[in-house]
Amino acid sequence: MTIALEPDLEDRLVRYCAVDTQSDLDSPTTPSTACQLDLSRMLVAELEAMGAEDVVLTEYGAVLATVPGNAPGPTIGFLGHVDTAPQFNATGVKPRVIRGYNGGEITYPDDPALVLSPEVDSYLGKKVGEDIVCASGLTLLGADDKAGVAIVMSAAQYLLEHPEVPRPTLRLAFTPDEEIGRGVHGELPTDLAVDFAYTFDGGVEGEIVYESFSADQADVVVKGVSIHPGYATGQMVNAAYLAAKIVQALPLSTMTPETTSGRDGFLHVTNMEGGSSEMHIRLILRDFEREGLAAKSDLLRQVCAAVQAGEPRAKIEVEITPTYRNMRYWLEDDMTPVELAREACRGIGIEPFSQPIRGGTDGSRLTEMGVPTPNLFTGMRQIHGPLEWVSVQDMGKAAQLMLGIVGLAVQKDA
Ligand SMILES: [Zn+2]
Repeated sequence: MTIALEPDLEDRLVRYCAVDTQSDLDSPTTPSTACQLDLSRMLVAELEAMGAEDVVLTEYGAVLATVPGNAPGPTIGFLGHVDTAPQFNATGVKPRVIRGYNGGEITYPDDPALVLSPEVDSYLGKKVGEDIVCASGLTLLGADDKAGVAIVMSAAQYLLEHPEVPRPTLRLAFTPDEEIGRGVHGELPTDLAVDFAYTFDGGVEGEIVYESFSADQADVVVKGVSIHPGYATGQMVNAAYLAAKIVQALPLSTMTPETTSGRDGFLHVTNMEGGSSEMHIRLILRDFEREGLAAKSDLLRQVCAAVQAGEPRAKIEVEITPTYRNMRYWLEDDMTPVELAREACRGIGIEPFSQPIRGGTDGSRLTEMGVPTPNLFTGMRQIHGPLEWVSVQDMGKAAQLMLGIVGLAVQKDA
């Protein structure tokens, strides 16, 4: 099967990346930012134009659609997320295509100090001759996850244009707010109504992920005793000092993101704010195993209890909220979706590989909620920063992978 989807993929990626869809962790709304709907509405119009069915933009901001089946087989979902990461400027993205990359340095018109090269990212060295899409220097690109959105859209359009190609019923979903951990609304599994699904939100070619972190969020509130500092003798309890004590008592040299790798988890202080009367500390806890994650929340509670014991007049509260769990816990019971993707990957001449990712995807939550959802490669690299790039040819392979999965699913059912 040689289908040239690359021109369509490139066109989609460039158009989607130019739309600002940055999500916002501090926003209480759903989706967190209205700008995400600009892209969602664009996708609705494009899906309707290509003849997809049941196209809706749900109240929770997800675009859903059906590619009706013409052959028996499992109902399969394909997902991408429309939002981009809050960590770096995403306003005014100017995507550039470097056609037939020559293997040298890529420079940036809006920031001459920036350089991308195979020395910075060895994967780029394997992409000589390919078409590289990157930003202009002032913004991220947003290939995470507009590459995924483009891959799903492009492959869906191909199938709708080729009714002679056998396919089971496919469901497409483009979710908001993945980057802030709110991509999977409680109604999504029911609305999606699939046997299993895939997110296209992974990295280098061949990557098929079925193991993610397990994640909790911790909120610590420290209430001191407030009084005019001129008359505070023997009475003031400064919450800022106690918060500093708590952070200093954590295992900063062995259990932080910057001191761990591989299968080791961490505690990470993401935010501290407040003043002498009250402080709020927010942490994220990560580990691959439930036991390791529980040990990290126990540790945090012990540290807070010890600081509390040293200052009974203060009030220290810890609240732990589960975020997502390692999808392996569910997928290892039924590896069918993973095996199907692996076989399809080999079918397009790429040897698949799986490694646990030190993060989560919409698939982590979906899997936990009963929809097994491994994560597949898109080619995106250097995400969440100004050097973010993706090869159009890698996206082409990912789109072939999607078509391969669809074809294999029909064969296996026959
Ligand atoms: Zn992503």
